[in-house]
Amino acid sequence: MIPEQAKKALKKLFGKALREDPPHLLAYSTDATRIEARPDAVAFPVNERQISETLKLANKYKFPVVPRGSGTGFSGGAVPIEGGLVLSLSRMRYLKIHGEDMVAEVEPGLITEELQREAEKHGLFYPPDPASLKNSTIGGNLAENAGGPRCLKYGVTKNYVLGLRVVLPSGEIIELGRGLQKNVAGYDLLGLFIGSEGTLGVITRAWLKLIPLPPLRRSLRADFRNVREASLAATSLLSCGILPSALEFVDSESLKAASSYLGIEIKAGASLIIQVDGDELSVKSQMERIKRCLKENSPVSMVVSEDEEQEEEVWKLRRSISPAINRLKPIKINEDIVVPRSLIPQAVDFVYSLGKKHSIMVVVFGHMGDGNLHVNFMVEEEEKPRAEEAVKELFLWVIKKGGAISGEHGIGITKASFLRAQLGEESYRLMKGIKRLLDPKNILNPGKIFL
Ligand SMILES: Cc1cc2nc3c(=O)[nH]c(=O)nc-3n(C[C@H](O)[C@H](O)[C@H](O)COP(=O)(O)OP(=O)(O)OC[C@H]3O[C@@H](n4cnc5c(N)ncnc54)[C@H](O)[C@@H]3O)c2cc1C
Repeated sequence: MIPEQAKKALKKLFGKALREDPPHLLAYSTDATRIEARPDAVAFPVNERQISETLKLANKYKFPVVPRGSGTGFSGGAVPIEGGLVLSLSRMRYLKIHGEDMVAEVEPGLITEELQREAEKHGLFYPPDPASLKNSTIGGNLAENAGGPRCLKYGVTKNYVLGLRVVLPSGEIIELGRGLQKNVAGYDLLGLFIGSEGTLGVITRAWLKLIPLPPLRRSLRADFRNVREASLAATSLLSCGILPSALEFVDSESLKAASSYLGIEIKAGASLIIQVDGDELSVKSQMERIKRCLKENSPVSMVVSEDEEQEEEVWKLRRSISPAINRLKPIKINEDIVVPRSLIPQAVDFVYSLGKKHSIMVVVFGHMGDGNLHVNFMVEEEEKPRAEEAVKELFLWVIKKGGAISGEHGIGITKASFLRAQLGEESYRLMKGIKRLLDPKNILNPGKIFL
């Protein structure tokens, strides 16, 4: 609850940009998890000062503040589970490309794809590419340390962050570096805020590294008889001396759902989507080598994109999987485990065995090159307890094998009860201590990451 006096102060601070009407409260009550909790109000700041004043008020009157980008998060990070104020960063969308320095200066509400498009106009490239890039914001990407298909070659969001401005839970503002390519002055606090899921500060500006835009990208879709053959092909491909920019795995259910969603016909036991980039000669020679290497694993067919249109078609298929599988069952329990690459075939087998054991539908796809699999348990309401048991068994198996319970979606609400098992007691306590130090009254995104 936001106390009346605090509401009065917020109204003064935001005017009409503070909303308490039911349609707004409903619209800002959930994210891609579909977990719902109503906020007491939603504010749309346009500058850092408003954010700082808000957090000072939250400390004074003790109410929760939940930063929010576009609400595409898959772990409930933007859901206001303890009520309070949702702080939507959607109106802070400044963007400037410093071409000579190869740096983008952005505000957090900027949509990921807009940054990529603008960088390309300057012959530059911002590689992090979550499949949600048409909707997700840079602030959300920073707070989740988002990944995506291209991370295999280019790394995740944190690899492109040169500087940040952050409003701390106390309302103080800090600046951590700017657009320098190198800077080792002091502790690496950037790393602390990137991936902190809106619990340690509100990111208000970022300086992001850009690199030269590769002149050409081409992709190959290889279809296999079954999942095991595709996963074995993926692991052996990476020992062929080539680092593709993406190596994605799609199982037969994902393929069926995505092709019916797009109104096309593709049937296979499983597929790999492999992208390479570079100049024309290098793309051609990489493709030839990939084809030779894959042939050893007997794919049923291989199709290479020949032009931009076909290239876009391949990736449209990949990006449509998530919305397409939503139509399979009313509830999608979506996990994003990571295992060492050599264990991918074993992990895929284990996931399907869980589906069989608990009699639930399992759909698997993801960033196979990174060992990062999106495991989706698709269920009806009455099957949910069985799916939750399957998730628990999955996480315990992943931890035992030296993997991670999340590669890019974060902990949020959905994985909070497994974080202690993943980190061990000491690391868990240290992380909780950092949260307490920066946010002693627990006003910033409470109820997330830690139980
Ligand atoms: C179809 C689909 C595909 C996806 N594919 C991928 C993928 O390939 N890779 C991937 O990594 N993720 C993926 N995601 C997950 C999601 O898109 C990412 O986590 C994304 O980074 C969230 O951005 P957002 O703007 O929607 O953030 P939100 O969901 O609004 O918020 C996410 C978290 O960030 C915090 N936050 C937001 N803005 C700020 C800020 N300015 N300062 C501090 N904290 C802030 C919120 O409090 C919350 O904890 C996908 C999601 C969907 C729906």
